[in-house]
Amino acid sequence: MQFTNEREFTYARSYHGPIRAVIFDWAGTTMDFGCMAPAVVFQKVYEKAGVPISMEEARFPMGAHKRVHIGLISEIPSVRRRWVEAHGAEPTDKDVGKMFDDFVPMQEACLSDYSTLIPGTLEVVAECRKRGYKIGSTSGYLPGMLAINQRDGEAQGYSPDATFGAGDVPRGRPFGHMVLRNILELDVSPVQSVVKVDDTLTGIEEGLNAGGWGVGLAISGNEVGLTLEEWNALPDEVKQKHRDRIYPTMYQRGAHYVVDSIADLIPVFDDIEARLKRGEKP
Ligand SMILES: [Mg+2]
Repeated sequence: MQFTNEREFTYARSYHGPIRAVIFDWAGTTMDFGCMAPAVVFQKVYEKAGVPISMEEARFPMGAHKRVHIGLISEIPSVRRRWVEAHGAEPTDKDVGKMFDDFVPMQEACLSDYSTLIPGTLEVVAECRKRGYKIGSTSGYLPGMLAINQRDGEAQGYSPDATFGAGDVPRGRPFGHMVLRNILELDVSPVQSVVKVDDTLTGIEEGLNAGGWGVGLAISGNEVGLTLEEWNALPDEVKQKHRDRIYPTMYQRGAHYVVDSIADLIPVFDDIEARLKRGEKP
């Protein structure tokens, strides 16, 4: 029998090409194992404002623009309650602005203390380049801070082809704008050929919102929040408890893949390439 009415069918196009670009986050992904630098300074600015916060409270909104992050900490109910106890009023946008003004120079002053590359970064980036992937990057840091990271990265042999921070776009994460700016700058297409790698939930969403693949790094960044030495010293069962908590959280946020750190990415890229060849989309 012959089909005579072509309007009974639609035809779908799919991308079968290779990965064209990988976009890495900075702190907790390529440098600063444990994403220590911002967490420490968020604690300092809240302490200066008379409302000391825990490390967990400091880390909760990680990945956002730093001013937004300070505001989000002030919305955590436990912090809000202690703020009212200390100041007799709820924290205002002016309070947040004042803390942000304190934050910027304090962060810039200590950033280089936390800029050691995460093990595996140079090897994985070299393999990406061998495969022809372009290397982009995004960060919740502002331009002055990002310039320090870029300088320290370059000194250790890591220089991505493009870098955009929260100060370069109208909206930071979880919006996909920083990834999209990388895509333009790197001149790659289509979005299905782009992989975003990040240690935060909002940074995974950033990649998904841009239309690409999202990979979560469970151990090297904000979700564990320990330095490499502290992590290495943990007993295996404690390490596994962290994985059991973080892996499902990142998958539930939409990550296509979750691995411990940047060092584990090559098999992920292989798998994405195989899926693209089969016509799968992110
Ligand atoms: Mg990060």
